Amino acid sequence: MQEMLDIEVIRSAKRTKTVQARIVDGKIQVRIPARMSKAEEEKAVGEIVEKLRRRNRSSASSDSDLLERAHRLNKSVLDSKARVESVRWVSNQTGRWGSCTVATAEIRISDRLRNVPDYVLDAVLVHELTHTFIPGHSAEFWEWADKTPLAERAKGYLEAYQRWG
Ligand SMILES: [Zn+2]
Repeated sequence: MQEMLDIEVIRSAKRTKTVQARIVDGKIQVRIPARMSKAEEEKAVGEIVEKLRRRNRSSASSDSDLLERAHRLNKSVLDSKARVESVRWVSNQTGRWGSCTVATAEIRISDRLRNVPDYVLDAVLVHELTHTFIPGHSAEFWEWADKTPLAERAKGYLEAYQRWG
């Protein structure tokens, strides 16, 4: 599985025992006590990153989950303007989060997004769904695409990898 986010480890002299991880600027930032050994660091970082990943994992795991989600977002965010035909996970999206074939309304979502929070996946889905009725990135396009709940936060999350399809 491809790693979603880079990990940055910061040794802090102020810390004595606790390890803390959070997502900052598209990276997982882990703060550990300065005195930890390399082996302790590896173990502690591995554990906390896994915990963070589990907490942030998207709840859509199959193609039919994605399709169902797309139908729901079309209704709740896009006033049912999008054409929802086929939505599926793909593993060959080199550098892109999603893509849409406008003529057939086929949407493909990079399986790297299986490990992101739901609001990030939703933002990418709404982006591609919007393309089924507005092909380019015009002002009108963004008016619709940015209706996604937490749109700005999702963009921040994906910023380091920002090549929208
Ligand atoms: Zn686009």
